[in-house]
Amino acid sequence: MASSKRSPVHAPGRAGMPRRAYAVGAIAVALAAALSGCAPEPDDHPEPKPETRSPKTEPAPTAAPTPTPAPEPSPTPTFDAQAHSIDDPMSIWVVSNKLRPLNPVDFVPSDLVMPEGVVNANGQPLREPAARAVERLIADAAAAGHPVQILSAFRDSALQTSLYESYIARDGQAAADTYSARPGHSEHQTGLTVDFDDGSGCALEACFGGTAAGTWIAEHAAEYGFIVRYPDGKQDITGFMPEPWHFRYVGPELAGEMRDRGVSTLEEFFGLPAAPDYAD
Ligand SMILES: [Zn+2]
Repeated sequence: MASSKRSPVHAPGRAGMPRRAYAVGAIAVALAAALSGCAPEPDDHPEPKPETRSPKTEPAPTAAPTPTPAPEPSPTPTFDAQAHSIDDPMSIWVVSNKLRPLNPVDFVPSDLVMPEGVVNANGQPLREPAARAVERLIADAAAAGHPVQILSAFRDSALQTSLYESYIARDGQAAADTYSARPGHSEHQTGLTVDFDDGSGCALEACFGGTAAGTWIAEHAAEYGFIVRYPDGKQDITGFMPEPWHFRYVGPELAGEMRDRGVSTLEEFFGLPAAPDYAD
């Protein structure tokens, strides 16, 4: 990946622009070309086959046959890949990327709520399941010694429009497209996405992934139903630079399945075309 202008990506709204991240001009960050390829390739996730161990017909040593214990069918909970739509904008599995605008493009979720008991820098809501999950994640992170706050959550298409246009004015469209989604294509518009910050000076910066809090969240995200939506080395698939602060709620079933299979992007998991660029 060529080095691109690095800048506050998901700047949360204008209100209360916290700290320098939003104001900084383009900071060239030799972004993680070096980090590419970290994500494990999806393997064919061999399903553990329950061993059909037919009780051997061994000659019974004595007249008293010991009852052979029934082979325990290891109850692997089966993952249902059809459990939710990837097209319905109200689905927790909706896949939004540069080739898959939300439909309608001015979609607003119907179950937005304000997460409780958390610091929410821009006071943006989340969809109810994501809000409840993030409350638990933040509480557990704090208990583990990593206090974090929400920098950005739901953004409607009007806010996304103004952000995107401001980035174009500053950096040009080609650069803006690497770090800011066009309206209707933003994960934040799903109401399922959170940008975290730990106050260590890495707000919306690649270095967040190396902080203790960023590391903790990445390790535990799946337990709460979140994934790192734009992982290292996947820009050609997701269309966006790595964003270790940006977590997308998909529910613990899918997040756990992706983790277990070693598939890091929704595009790869669902067999969708890579979406490095917009169609037009
Ligand atoms: Zn974000």
